[in-house]
Amino acid sequence: MGIERPVICKKCGHKFQCRNGCSFCSMQIRCDKCGKDKFIDRYQILDKVRQTREKELLAFIKSEKLDRKGSILISTDDTNSTIGIKLDGMVIKKISTDICSKRNQKLFEDSLRKCKCGGQLKWDAPARCPKCHGTKLKAANSGIEVCYD
Ligand SMILES: [Zn+2]
Ligand SMILES: [Zn+2]
Repeated sequence: MGIERPVICKKCGHKFQCRNGCSFCSMQIRCDKCGKDKFIDRYQILDKVRQTREKELLAFIKSEKLDRKGSILISTDDTNSTIGIKLDGMVIKKISTDICSKRNQKLFEDSLRKCKCGGQLKWDAPARCPKCHGTKLKAANSGIEVCYD
């Protein structure tokens, strides 16, 4: 669950609504330069991560000169968070598609287009003042707080 609350920039005094946190079906990502945030659907992230990692498995099949017909790409668990290659009934390689793993988060970041300002969208980029891009923010004592999920 995320929260939207009024904050004041310690550098320039600008007051604005700052959103923080993921919602139930989407995840928040921010530009590392201007701080502009974006919400991305979890399924969209999962799709991208799976596509990218399946390509890795196919490259593995090729590099190991495995028989492509004999080797099949499989989901190795119910939650679909692991994919792998099965050969002659045995799992010979497994890769995580968990969207919370560091490696997959990085893969997804790298697949995104740059922000209009030239910055990169990052999961761990801090919130910034939209006016001066300062990161030192304090809670404002008036205004509305909104929880979203
Ligand atoms: Zn930006
Ligand atoms: Zn500011």
